[in-house]
Amino acid sequence: NNNYGIDIWSDGNFIIEDGVAKVNFDCKPSLISIVKDIRKQDFKGPLLLRFPHITEKQITTLYTTFNSSIKEYDYKGKFNAVFPLKVNQLPNFIHPLVSVGKEYNYGLEAGSKAELIIAMTYNNIGSPITINGFKDKEMIHLCFIAKSMGHNITIIIEGLNELEMIVEVFKESKLACPNIGLRVRLHSGGSGLWAKSGGINSKFGLTSTEILEAYELMEENDLVKYLTMIHFHIGSAMNSIKPLKKALRESGHIYAELKNLGAINLSSINIGGGLAVEYSAYERTRFYSLSEFSNDVVFTLKEIAKQKGVDEPNIFTESGRFISAASTVLITPVLELFSAEYELDHLKLKEENPPLIQELHELFNDMSKKTAYEFMHDSIDHMESLLTLFDLGYIDLQDRSNAEILTHQIIKKAISLLQIDDYEELKKLDENIQEKYLLNFSLFQSLPDYWGIDQEFPIMPITHLDKNPTRSACLWDITCDSDGELPFDLKKPLYLHDVNLNQEDYFLGFFNVGAYQDTLGMKHNLFSHPTEVNIVFKDGKVILEKILESQKIIDILEDIDYDTSEIRSILGKHLSKETYNVLEKYLNENSYLKTIWSYYDE
Ligand code: PLP
Repeated sequence: NNNYGIDIWSDGNFIIEDGVAKVNFDCKPSLISIVKDIRKQDFKGPLLLRFPHITEKQITTLYTTFNSSIKEYDYKGKFNAVFPLKVNQLPNFIHPLVSVGKEYNYGLEAGSKAELIIAMTYNNIGSPITINGFKDKEMIHLCFIAKSMGHNITIIIEGLNELEMIVEVFKESKLACPNIGLRVRLHSGGSGLWAKSGGINSKFGLTSTEILEAYELMEENDLVKYLTMIHFHIGSAMNSIKPLKKALRESGHIYAELKNLGAINLSSINIGGGLAVEYSAYERTRFYSLSEFSNDVVFTLKEIAKQKGVDEPNIFTESGRFISAASTVLITPVLELFSAEYELDHLKLKEENPPLIQELHELFNDMSKKTAYEFMHDSIDHMESLLTLFDLGYIDLQDRSNAEILTHQIIKKAISLLQIDDYEELKKLDENIQEKYLLNFSLFQSLPDYWGIDQEFPIMPITHLDKNPTRSACLWDITCDSDGELPFDLKKPLYLHDVNLNQEDYFLGFFNVGAYQDTLGMKHNLFSHPTEVNIVFKDGKVILEKILESQKIIDILEDIDYDTSEIRSILGKHLSKETYNVLEKYLNENSYLKTIWSYYDE
């Protein structure tokens, strides 16, 4: 039975019950009931459902797991965490995160001036802010301003020039100096797709020589007292802990050496992000649990502190993916099944048909369960030959259309005859009998990591889960780009249901899309972000909070700097007032497909 790997990737957040996917929380609503409620309000395109309770669960799990390791090892340092804004800066995600983070003193990490402004505005005063990435003097000045607002902010320097700028701003602004952290360039790298963020050749961090120079520069300018943190990040989505242990030892020793040099307020090691999320629906790819991870961090740092005779450091993490990925589900309506074009009532056989077409017709009529597999195979061969005959001019367009209809009908009939007992046999033909599903979304906008780096995401229909899916599925988006496709992959096959969209809706859910996808996505073909909704629970009821509709066409054009009053005036000049009013209505709708014309409705 196909459960789409939910046991592997869902972490108990979603369950299948009575044939539908449900949110495993509070009143356990089905995803389809939520989707129907939203669509009732005329939002017909793709939907991003955000579940703040899942973000809260991740934050709570992170803190309780680390705190229990700390207790178990009688560790003297404290656990702290910040959310790296780069992973998801959108207000509908950030506001609930900051609000539930308050009780833990959960903070934010910023890597640019714009992200810093978000952190300065919304971070709970007293919760940590850490600043990474390349900085200019203006950004450093902003950090000083944040400090003067009462924020607990640490500037993590990536190079000596940043330290020099801190010295300058300190002297010129006369503002109190924020804490300083040093990002160290470790010898050890990470594991997984993003491992290049760590290691000696990474883009970031200070070498040992630079660390010593930085220390000297701080001494010369009386800044040593502000040095509080050592930082490293060995890469996102670590699939094993081994490289982390090496990095911890390396950075632990740097910490201890600096303390022994006289860094009196150095008190924290920031281990960056990198906690992995399970994206696979086929086999586990993350080979550790959070408690193994936290035990290893606490144990290793304790050992080093003991060996070097220094205080056990506070621990900071900047995990982003772990906190945010599971909180968001993308729902895409299926607009069309490719084979729907090949309904039998379009078959227009002639009095006299070419022999191969005649044979296809017989295969279709005579097929039984026993012959289904063989006949399906034969029909696919015949189809190939008929296409060649068409190219050579021996059959006409009507013949070709008949051939296509018959072949598709043979495949459908064979699948329905075989599906119960011979499912495995059937799968062998997967690649030849693919069904293409057209989805109302843009892959470039909503799953950029699939497009860019082949990141897989769990995919599951949100209904029909009590029925055997019989079609090997290839997914197409609505952009005019052939890369907007998730092809059928025999190694990681996706099977979907054969549905008649004139009679019922069919929606696919893409899970774990809350990390990085929202802002990495791009407006290819000018499809902007999907309509997004926060789903919250109050008194056993589902509340649709903060519905943010996909951008209107006119706003998308304004965003790329078109003069929208000029657009309106040019269009208006050529149209009657009445027609222009209709056009104006379209300008104020979003660009996803709304009503799709179908000849079956006639
Ligand atoms: N901290 C730093 C410095 C990073 O560069 C990143 C991401 O690349 C993160 C934290 C977040 O990583 P993740 O989302 O894998 O936890």
